[in-house]
Amino acid sequence: MSIYDLIIRNGYVVFPDEVKKADLAIRDGVIVKVGDHLDGKANEEYEADGQHIFPGMIDVHVHFSEPGRAHWEGFETGSQMMAAGGCTTYFDMPLNGIPSTIDRKALLEKGKIGEMKSVIDFGLWGGLVPGNIDELEDLAKSGVIGFKAFLSATGNEEFERADDFTLLHGMKKIAELGKVLALHAESDPITQWFKQDKEKNGLFSANDYAATRPVQAEAEAVGRAITYAELTGCPLHFVHISSSLAIGKIESAKQKGLDVTVETCPHYLLFNQDDLIEKGAVAKCAPPLRGREEQERLITCLMEEKFDMISSDHSPCPYELKDPAIHNIFEAWGGISGGQFSLMSMIELAVLHDIPLHKVAMWTASAPAKRFGLSSRKGQIKHGMDADLAIVSLNGTHEVSETNFFAKHKQSVYMGHTFPCQITATINRGKIVYQTDVISEWERGEWLKVIDSGIAVNN
Ligand code: ZN
Repeated sequence: MSIYDLIIRNGYVVFPDEVKKADLAIRDGVIVKVGDHLDGKANEEYEADGQHIFPGMIDVHVHFSEPGRAHWEGFETGSQMMAAGGCTTYFDMPLNGIPSTIDRKALLEKGKIGEMKSVIDFGLWGGLVPGNIDELEDLAKSGVIGFKAFLSATGNEEFERADDFTLLHGMKKIAELGKVLALHAESDPITQWFKQDKEKNGLFSANDYAATRPVQAEAEAVGRAITYAELTGCPLHFVHISSSLAIGKIESAKQKGLDVTVETCPHYLLFNQDDLIEKGAVAKCAPPLRGREEQERLITCLMEEKFDMISSDHSPCPYELKDPAIHNIFEAWGGISGGQFSLMSMIELAVLHDIPLHKVAMWTASAPAKRFGLSSRKGQIKHGMDADLAIVSLNGTHEVSETNFFAKHKQSVYMGHTFPCQITATINRGKIVYQTDVISEWERGEWLKVIDSGIAVNN
């Protein structure tokens, strides 16, 4: 009689403080034993053969744009693409779909679609926009991960930027609800002022675009948000931070004891403004890819552990919205499609800069789980946790091509990039959802509702 569903043998397991060879036994989707040469039988054995076993990535920041704009990505291809990159849980942002996730009805509609289509687990953010303060409590009670607001224009007419009064009111309410507010922090006046100047003078090059969103615009917005957090007690999470200037402000806030975390995205660490000039709109994002020196400063910040976590900010669109024959760089959709590549990117950076692999696991799994209420079940490989795993070969390489990129639209700044590793399998709660270029399309993930700082049961 078999006592386990699955045993994974001879992998180098990436634990919180070390990498060590171990076997993992899994039953009912949970890791029930970790050790050397495990006894016992299993329905299935997986020979990891010296490959590395990371905790499945928890990507706190993706845009699948469904309902309403599923032709941009959607939960089906979106979740499959994430699985192919070693991700087992993602959080979908409240904008780019129609309707935006700014009330309970929209949240439940999106959650239902996710449950029908997602091959891995997921959580959903709620939005903070002018006029929806009264919806925040319902959203919190319905299990949103946290709330998201923009300090600059969103590029999306269904999701309005939060003015300062909305921010102050919203932060007070979100603090009372025990949630975190995630912020896109760039100054609207600074970015608009530069943009108007470029438009007036007919300057539309990649460098002109980058110049409209300087690091000072990010640092100003971060500083203002921190002041508001001091006044309201609201926990903050800064998304896709792209400058050491902003990091300096966040470090000071942390030293003061404020409840603040910060993510950056692999594209700010692997690419720079030269890629925007060379590749055009596929490399357009906001904040923009920075110059080479700033990129190096960001890598130093990473090595000094000034970033708490890494997210992809996967933000895809149909090809025509980035087509240079139709749109100049200012008009093109801003967003990098790269949700599949975050874990491999961080492993590449670890290899290049001699960063221990357990830190990669911290940035991609344990820190996001802890910050957003998932750590009772997710984020680490240990007894009693969900069997969410990414099996990675450090011997193989992965060259990004149209055939092995699972997003709906294949344009990406990562196209042609070669990673010094390969995701060979992804396991979500004990089920193999991805193995060497094949997705198990019939697997279904769970909508993780976070209520009272933990995953709600029976959801
Ligand atoms: Zn985003």
